[in-house]
Amino acid sequence: MIRQAKGKTPRRPPPKKPSNNQKDPVGVYCRVRPLGADDEECCIEVISNTTIQLHAPDGLKANRNGEYKETQYSFKKVFGIKTSQRELFEDVAKPLVEDLIHCKNGLLFTYGVTGSGKTHTMTGSPGQGGLLPRSLDMIFNSIGPYQAKRYVFKPDDKNGMEVQNQVDALLDRQKRDSQTTVPKTPTTRRIDPEFADMISPEEACKADGVDEDSSYSVFVSYIEIYNNYIYDLLEETPFDPIKPKWNGAGTPLRNNIEFIPPQSKILREDQNHNMYVAGCTEVEVKSTEEAFEVFWRGQKKRRIANTQLNRESSRSHSVFIVKLAQAPLDADGDNVLQDKNQVNVSQLCLVDLAGSERTSRTRAEGSRLREAGNINQSLMTLRTCIEVLRENQMCGTNKMVPYRDSKVTHLFKNYFDGEGKVRMVVCVNPKADDYEETLLVMRFAEMTQEVEVARPVDRPICGFAAGRRQRNQAFKEELTRRLEERGGPVDGEFPTVLNQLLQSFPPLPPCEISGPNDDVTLPRLIEALEKRHKIRQMMIEEYNKTANMLKSVLQEQDSNILSKENFIQEQRGRLGEKDKMIQNQKNEIDRLEKKSKMLEYKIDILQKTTNIYEEDKRSLQQELESREQRLQRELSEKRRMESRMQGMVTDAKLKWEKECERRVNAKQLEMQNKLWVKDEKLKQLKAIVTEGKTENRQPQRPSREKDKVPPKRSASPSPVPTGPPVRPLHRRSHSAGGERWVDHKPTSNVDLDTVLKPNIPNAIKVNAPNEKALSKCDRYVLTHQEVASDGEIQTKLIKGEVFKTRGGGQSVQFTDIETLKQENPVAASRKRRSSETDPDGEPMEGDWTDVETRCSVAVEMRAGSNLGPGYQHHGYPKRRKP
Ligand code: ADP
Ligand code: MG
Repeated sequence: MIRQAKGKTPRRPPPKKPSNNQKDPVGVYCRVRPLGADDEECCIEVISNTTIQLHAPDGLKANRNGEYKETQYSFKKVFGIKTSQRELFEDVAKPLVEDLIHCKNGLLFTYGVTGSGKTHTMTGSPGQGGLLPRSLDMIFNSIGPYQAKRYVFKPDDKNGMEVQNQVDALLDRQKRDSQTTVPKTPTTRRIDPEFADMISPEEACKADGVDEDSSYSVFVSYIEIYNNYIYDLLEETPFDPIKPKWNGAGTPLRNNIEFIPPQSKILREDQNHNMYVAGCTEVEVKSTEEAFEVFWRGQKKRRIANTQLNRESSRSHSVFIVKLAQAPLDADGDNVLQDKNQVNVSQLCLVDLAGSERTSRTRAEGSRLREAGNINQSLMTLRTCIEVLRENQMCGTNKMVPYRDSKVTHLFKNYFDGEGKVRMVVCVNPKADDYEETLLVMRFAEMTQEVEVARPVDRPICGFAAGRRQRNQAFKEELTRRLEERGGPVDGEFPTVLNQLLQSFPPLPPCEISGPNDDVTLPRLIEALEKRHKIRQMMIEEYNKTANMLKSVLQEQDSNILSKENFIQEQRGRLGEKDKMIQNQKNEIDRLEKKSKMLEYKIDILQKTTNIYEEDKRSLQQELESREQRLQRELSEKRRMESRMQGMVTDAKLKWEKECERRVNAKQLEMQNKLWVKDEKLKQLKAIVTEGKTENRQPQRPSREKDKVPPKRSASPSPVPTGPPVRPLHRRSHSAGGERWVDHKPTSNVDLDTVLKPNIPNAIKVNAPNEKALSKCDRYVLTHQEVASDGEIQTKLIKGEVFKTRGGGQSVQFTDIETLKQENPVAASRKRRSSETDPDGEPMEGDWTDVETRCSVAVEMRAGSNLGPGYQHHGYPKRRKP
């Protein structure tokens, strides 16, 4: 798109177009033409609608370069030999024309060796119109009714376009009409049979989405690039009065093509950095026919030049440029908006390139060889440019693209650097002779597909409301209808009525009065004037009627507009209501969404809590289980310990019982032996006494020394006494008042202040036992205090019987123990000295020893002796040996 420069914008920096990051690859299509003759060798096969396969012809089978014998090439689409011109157009050129109408640029070129069908594809022939006539037709089918009047748009010679005011445009039109003899309506013209039937009407197609509120104009240019020179094929050859060319009838060939060696043109860059051919003719055309006629004119000129200059047309590039200028209609929808900034110019370049064959093939000689070299040079440059572009795009490099090296590439620079669609139709002739050149064409085509071109952006739209053109037209139609309805000779336009009325004025009669008595002239004049007056009245009436009618039309229009406005107002109100409703609904939706979010959040939290609780439950359950297991273990451990303890107790008991029995037996034996020895000694002593001192009858007590039993303390208690150590024992006779007690209370005892206190009548109270007291009594009691297992002091009354020993001493045999104990209810559970008491509270070994120690004092035979006890005693109730 070539946007118009704004006023006097400085040349640099350039006004940037809206930047666009989207790119499209160059669309490359392949068209295979049919073979010239059926018996020709073929080297191309269409494999699919995107791929062709080349196979080396028989003569080339022994491939010199080691290349593949068969190679495949893929394209956007491959068109086989049966493809019609229309099919090709639909796929290749139609989108470009659509773009053109929507203000986007396009470039379409045909590429291939000479005779491959480039010109057939681009131009075609009668009945088989190519892409060019079809494109023109589509353009005019699309914009036909929206075209601006000629000269409204005017090229500014700087590749731009301006809008002329109506007067200037009209003047230009009149000038043109007076200069040309060309009839106005093309339908009446004879169409050159050379290009008749390029497109049949039933194949006509049309672009969609044409902006009806714009006005359009088409301009065409046609140039030829030959030997790197640019020639304008549409340049009007000025009539040269000095060297006129005459036809046979002696008239200059004014409207035919006269040959004057063409002047080459130069390329320029416009304010937007677009390249253009400076001073190139741009012909405004209003129909397909007109446009194609212009093209054909150029074509003819080209042919003549080639013939005259002995050039070969296949070595030139022909470029047909279609420029479409469009500008929005003004607010009334009546005229084109007079604002250069609002003019948009887009262009479509249709290029028929020179044959791509190498110089060697052209059989060129002399100057032709030089030309051929140049032709190939420009195609070589095209190839190089494409290569560099591809490399830059693929590798991110920034190599300079040598566009300037040839005119063709320089002219198309903007298409590759800027934006627009670029499409190429690669034409191939499948004949084997072309194989090597076709191979090169294929390689170039494949490479071209990898180049990307920026996609054009949509143009901004003008600020006016849409539908302006339609409204304006509707108004005009309505006015005409009303005037017709009114009757009268309405000839389409209002002033015609007046004209006709004027014509109906009767001519004035001769009003020269011949004499004073002339009474003919004046009445005739009066009559004529009266007639005129009547006509005038009629005219006034007519005028008033028309005015009224117009007024009513306007009023009606006004009321129409008013009602429409009311309607719009109403609709707006409704729209507002609907909007409100929508807003409400939206609010409600918002609220519900919020609520649902809230609920979701809550659910989430609850879910999390549940999870935590479940986790807790699981862990607690696990702990419970492990504790139960431990309990079980401990219980079983306890049971095992109990049974072990019981076993141990039983064992110990049995052991001790046996030990005791053994010791008692041993002691008994020993004592019996001693007793026996003593008895023997006593007997001997008795015998001595009886023999020696018969008179001396005084009883004599055995000496203490002799009775003395060496003190013996057993290391361990003797649990069960088997009876009195000495026999026979003499029990003291009980006195009439009952038993007499020795009440032994050691001074170390403390007064416990108990309620129950042993009170023994007739007792001899002693602190330490003595023989004297024992001799007087037959019972003995020891008040013994000790600390019980619960920590309380308990009092034990250890009771025994007093026996007279054979030696005349006293012996105590313990019979039972009474225990008095005070307990503190609060401290009932005070620590126990488990090591010293057994579970029954019986004193164990240590206590026994203590009691025994004290009792031993009590049973000491001799007063004042501190030695151990002479007799066994124990804390258990007396037991008889079984
Ligand atoms: P180029 O322009 O590439 O040199 P042309 O378009 O002049 O080739 O074609 C050479 C000849 O081949 C012409 O006579 C043309 O009618 C014919 N031709 C080319 N392509 C086709 C086709 N697709 N179908 C029928 N004839 C074709
Ligand atoms: Mg050609």
